Amino acid sequence: MNFLEEKILSDGIVKPGNILKIDNFLNHQLDIEIIRHIAYELRLRFEGSKLNKILTIEASGIAIATMLGLACEVPVVFAKKGQTANSTDDKYVSHAYSFTHKRMNDVFVSKPYLHPTDKVLIVDDFLADGQAAHALIDIVKQAGAEVVGIGIAVEKGQQKGGDTLRKEGYWLESIAIIEEMDADTQTIRFRGQEPAHLRQNGTAELS
Ligand code: 5GP
Repeated sequence: MNFLEEKILSDGIVKPGNILKIDNFLNHQLDIEIIRHIAYELRLRFEGSKLNKILTIEASGIAIATMLGLACEVPVVFAKKGQTANSTDDKYVSHAYSFTHKRMNDVFVSKPYLHPTDKVLIVDDFLADGQAAHALIDIVKQAGAEVVGIGIAVEKGQQKGGDTLRKEGYWLESIAIIEEMDADTQTIRFRGQEPAHLRQNGTAELS
């Protein structure tokens, strides 16, 4: 089991509706050592990709992207979510349905922050149905730039995002891939592993 799978087992909690809560180290409180480890692992996996920019989406992708930007010495851009103001002339705009908030969001990046010469690594905390990743891919394409890969901390393999992106030919690296999880029994099975019980050491930080 790798360091992130261990951390999820130690501190994660499965919520009804197929949601993994890891608020005490990634989605609310930030465990900088774990995030640094995630960033270093992604840098290793994308060695040779010639990336020159990292693109993520607010909010939880930013911590990983920042640390990865530092490690790779490249600029980091985050796409904003919400309703775009009246004029969209100065922005690349796409759309993504939010799995956690159950609503459609505009996703946008101001034009000066992406260029046709950019080789972009897309980074996010979770990959579920691939809505966020596809919106970011769309934005990179609108800018005439290239997607060199997609780096994810936690992929929910039981949802279609990962399979779709791989079929589309993208270089996708996910550090922890969840095959199944169960809110009633608080068990989780990672790809290539036996099912295991979550220990919930981090529940004190979860309200
Ligand atoms: P997708 O766009 O791939 O359908 O969903 C990915 C986005 O939804 C991520 O940016 C993440 O914020 C959120 N998300 C999806 N599933 C989960 C989950 O199980 N737990 C948490 N904390 N966020 C999730």
